Parts: sequence; C-alpha cells; structure tokens
Amino acid sequence: MFEISPYTFRMFSDCPQQYFFYNQKDLKNKYRKSRPYFVAGSIVHSTLKNFFSCYQPGERDQETLLGLFKTEWARNLLNFQKSGGDEQLYFQRMRDQLLLFAEKQDLRAEPALTEDYYEAFLDEETLLKGKIDRADKINGKTIVIDYKTNKTIPENQDPLQLYAYAYILNEDAKLKLKLEGEFKVSQASYLYLSASDLYTFEVDEEILEKTRQMFLEKVKEIKKTENEYSRTGTEARVGKHCHFCDFVEICPRKAEAAGFAKSTSEAEISE
Ligand code: SF4
Repeated sequence: MFEISPYTFRMFSDCPQQYFFYNQKDLKNKYRKSRPYFVAGSIVHSTLKNFFSCYQPGERDQETLLGLFKTEWARNLLNFQKSGGDEQLYFQRMRDQLLLFAEKQDLRAEPALTEDYYEAFLDEETLLKGKIDRADKINGKTIVIDYKTNKTIPENQDPLQLYAYAYILNEDAKLKLKLEGEFKVSQASYLYLSASDLYTFEVDEEILEKTRQMFLEKVKEIKKTENEYSRTGTEARVGKHCHFCDFVEICPRKAEAAGFAKSTSEAEISE
C-alpha cells in the first residue's frame, strides 16, 4: 500500500531529493532534528485537544486553558530545550496565542472529533493519511478546523491540506463506524492563532474528487521519479523549504541549500 499525506505531497513538490531522504528510515533516524517552532506548535495543539476532549463546556475557561498549557509545556520542556529555541520567547508567544483563543473563540464548542490520525483510500492501492486537529458539527454542517501557530499569516492561502482532510473525514471507514453515520464536510478552515483569524473554504463533491485526482497524480509522479532515482539520482530543488530540511549536510547542493536555510526569516516559516 502506498501512503501519502498533505505533508509528503508538499515535501515532494518542493524537493524530490528531500522526499527520498525522508523516506529512508536510517537517514531519517540519523538526521531528524527537533525544531523550536514545531515543538512549541505541537504543545499548543495538545493543549487544545485536551481542553476540548477532557473538559465539559461549562468547565472551560481561560484559567483551565492556561493551566493545561503550562502542564504540556513542562511535560515537553526537555524536548523543547533540545531544539535550541529561546524558551521564554516561545512560551510567551504560545501563551499569548492561547489567551487570544480564550478571548475570541467559542470555548463551549463541542467538537465532533479532536486531534488524531485519520486515513482514507484514494484507490485500491493508495492511502491518504493526515493528522486532523478538529471537526465541528454546526447546524447540520461539518466544518474541519486546522490550527496554525505561525508567527505571521502567509499572504496566499493554499487550501489543499484542508481539502485532503475533508476527503479523509468523508471517507474514513473506521470513523463512519465510530460516529454511526457519514461525515459530510461542507467547510474547512485554517485558524491562525496569532490573530485568531479564520480562513474558510467551501467544500463539495467536485472539489474532493479533484483533490483525490491531484493526490493520485502526485503518487504517479513520485513512483516514476523513484524508479529513475534508483538509477540516476534525483533533483535537489533549493529554496526557502531548505530551512526545514534535516538533510542539508548530505544534500548534493549543500552549499546553496545552507545559504537558503540561514537566510529564511522566521516570519516565512509556516508551522
Ligand atoms: S537541503 Fe534543500 S535542496 Fe537539499 S535535499 Fe534538502 S530541501 Fe532539497
């Protein structure tokens, strides 16, 4: 079974070389690095998951949310310190995002599901996987929500990740059993916690079918490149994404990539 996710779709599109490094377990284990913005972002995600899944609507307030955040922060402190990030800066930034969340968002919402891994078939031999933050059912409509902890909001919003999640939720067989019914997603939103801003996209059958085709096309491209890669090597595409790449030191374009990795400002990083 071939597996793809919005994350690996984007990685392959940015740089096939990084994708192939990433898919070799020994290289991944050896070179994978902890990064402060990812560790801090994942603490915020766990805090929000616990907030909605462990507390009844009437029990949820700002104090509870911050208490959970401090517990999660302490639990992940060692991991954060390994990432080399500025502890005070990130703690403050993530805390501020949650304070804004408590002020602007509906704390009494009752999500139909909270953060977990979900998957659905694209065809008989291809599985689409994703870690989905949340889905709400409001007035009969299902809305997917993806939390973003970026410091700044990107100018252009790419809905592909949201469409992929909508597809998965509509098709995930185990989820259908668990929820005793179908999930028909009609909207999907990025929620940027730094400003509490929502970017919402409508979803329908046609969009989801196009999404399915796009992922299948990408899988074809990956498989084709994979065959050629084993004989001739593949393309290392240098760019801003090198900032996130764990494999700079073994990259065939190491010198150029290192320059890009350093010159990318934090504001450009999409978490
Ligand atoms: S450093 Fe940049 S060019 Fe090299 S493999 Fe990583 S993403 Fe690709």
